[in-house]
Amino acid sequence: MIQQTLVLIKPDGLKKSLTGNILTRLSETKLEIVAAKIVRVSRQLAEEHYRHMRDKPFFEELIKYIQGELHDRRKVLAMIYWGEDAINKVRVLAGATNPEKADPVSIRGAYGRITTLGVYENVIHTSTNEEEAEREIKLWFNPDEIIVDIYPTKIVTKEKVEIKVWA
Ligand code: UDP
Ligand code: MG
Repeated sequence: MIQQTLVLIKPDGLKKSLTGNILTRLSETKLEIVAAKIVRVSRQLAEEHYRHMRDKPFFEELIKYIQGELHDRRKVLAMIYWGEDAINKVRVLAGATNPEKADPVSIRGAYGRITTLGVYENVIHTSTNEEEAEREIKLWFNPDEIIVDIYPTKIVTKEKVEIKVWA
């Protein structure tokens, strides 16, 4: 089945200069990148992205982590990978959530670590299933930032919207 999945290179992945390595590993899947951007993650976006973790004792650390406050890199690289069985293909390459339990040749197994505060710094995020992928993609991207039509869209007329343009 053709699917799409959200992939984030987290701030630890950027800080450790792993972008090239991770993209090379992901290219093994033969999936297509259909959207990509660098995002400065707001507290609101971080909390919404990790809303399923909000009752965890490490939630506050997790929010700081994805916002880049633990790594002095206040950004993530957000991408959408698209193609046959995309969700599972990327999950398998990424490896288990806990980097110590992840297959050592997976991305998380090779590059992740557990901090003394108990946060799994696992360098990459990737959606778990189709429902989560849809929620996450719609959270991180607008339709016109994606070069294929993946979910239904509609046209709305907005009045008096201020946008920044080149001076
Ligand atoms: N996480 C953590 N400790 C845990 C579980 C999760 O630090 O015991 C962090 C980790 O960075 C993980 C993120 O919270 O990637 C989201 O957790 P989830 O269970 O959704 O794992 P994922 O889908 O990222 O494998
Ligand atoms: Mg998850």
